[in-house]
Amino acid sequence: MNRNEAREAVVRTGRLLEERGLTVGTGGNLSVRVEGEELVAIKPSAVPYGLMTPEDVPLLDLEGRVVEGRCAPSSEWRMHLGVYRARPDAGGVVHTHSRFATTLACLKWEIPAVHYLVAASGDELVPVAPYRTFGSPELAEVAVQALGRRGKAVLLANHGLLALGADLGEAFGVAEQLEFVAELAWRARCVGEPALLSREETWEALEAFRGYGPGRSS
Ligand code: 13P
Ligand code: ZN
Repeated sequence: MNRNEAREAVVRTGRLLEERGLTVGTGGNLSVRVEGEELVAIKPSAVPYGLMTPEDVPLLDLEGRVVEGRCAPSSEWRMHLGVYRARPDAGGVVHTHSRFATTLACLKWEIPAVHYLVAASGDELVPVAPYRTFGSPELAEVAVQALGRRGKAVLLANHGLLALGADLGEAFGVAEQLEFVAELAWRARCVGEPALLSREETWEALEAFRGYGPGRSS
């Protein structure tokens, strides 16, 4: 994905974030790596998703300097760059304020293995990073730390969810699937104690996911 394609992907996927109800107002943010350059295209701060154009989308180098773009980058630029620096496998990053994931984050509950789709997180559950002020270097630090070397998602206490993927499409999918699992966890706990999958069952689902995707019949 070149510079222009990356900026367009931020606009397009940002609209999807809003359409699918994964954030409220100008909350949440997203970014994608530019191929072959040490650059990241990131949502501009506080610009409504519906009004955002590719020209508004800043391009940052990995130290956080604005290389192109007429708007200031997302206040969470340190968190996004922290993920790219720590995780070479990350090609895209999505941060949501989606209702159910954020509800669990407000309770400081992990997203548990209540459904096999928890495997979208690349792990057995989605951990919770401690609360820190939005946009702060401290939030970036605790979020990247809680993500670890393998996980594709982390809840941010009293704030939202952070997800990564090999590309922006995957990062969006991880956030969307985990919102579904968080909703199931919340609903199940409203009426009882959910029957969680065992470690082995979750790891088998993770393995099965590796071979999951559109295929040909012959
Ligand atoms: P930005 O508009 O600066 O991206 O901030 C939104 C947000 O979710 C902060 O955590
Ligand atoms: Zn946020």
